[in-house]
Amino acid sequence: MKTQSIAVTGLVAGLALAAVVAQEKDNKKAEAPKEHPTGYTDTPFLPDGKWRVHDDARPRPEVVTPGKTAADAPSDAIVLFDGTSMDQWEMEKAGEPCDWIVKDGVVEVPPKGHGVGGYIRTKKEFTDVQLHIEWASPAEVVGNSQGRGNSGVFFLGAYEVQVLDSYDNKSYADGQASALYGWKPPLVNACRKPGEWQTYDIVFEAPRWDESGKLVKKAYVTILQNGVLTQHRQEYLGPTGHKQVANYDKVLDHGPIKLQDHGNPVRFRNIWIRELKFGSND
Ligand code: MG
Repeated sequence: MKTQSIAVTGLVAGLALAAVVAQEKDNKKAEAPKEHPTGYTDTPFLPDGKWRVHDDARPRPEVVTPGKTAADAPSDAIVLFDGTSMDQWEMEKAGEPCDWIVKDGVVEVPPKGHGVGGYIRTKKEFTDVQLHIEWASPAEVVGNSQGRGNSGVFFLGAYEVQVLDSYDNKSYADGQASALYGWKPPLVNACRKPGEWQTYDIVFEAPRWDESGKLVKKAYVTILQNGVLTQHRQEYLGPTGHKQVANYDKVLDHGPIKLQDHGNPVRFRNIWIRELKFGSND
């Protein structure tokens, strides 16, 4: 009986202690949260001399609502192709309406003899941008090397990011998908199989010239292909050419996005772009 009594006493004591601990937790919850400063006015100046470390007066970034997934357009993007209309595009030749084939939410490079032929370009011109574009080379492999699923995305209408079916396709290194054509191979070959949808997320920095026509900043590009980094702030030698070394002889600091008709039925979908302005975001 004595043992039982000790056990009961112990149980009661244990319950009482638990009640005290719970009460302390509740008291803590009730305490007002500590106020944190939203910024400082007495910290050292950063090297640019404009803002202090954690400066309270420094403008906060603009709010952008992201898309549902990283592939969906965020709130500040211009949708260049939503699967229904190519109204924002025109033929490079003569500026006629875009006649590439839109079907089932996809736009396709047409076969020879269809319409005007040739590259298409956006009606709007851009400088620095972030571009999302999805593409697929034909599921049925036809041709080889640069004749297989070839197209291209051009910035300022002149700086190409190569589109090619580089899946198990031997071709020169500076002509692969994600290459800066004729100059820089991608860091890795991140191509999916022929016919499968692939993504490019590209940040393009337009070159700059001063008023006297002197180049002050080259063009740079960063590319994620299917989420894999394939170019890291890679500089261009100049506008893309074929069998020649590019240069910055001509002043070209803005222009359309162009898509290449290389005679292969490459498909595109979900194209959106964000206008950026590097150098002014302080
Ligand atoms: Mg090409």
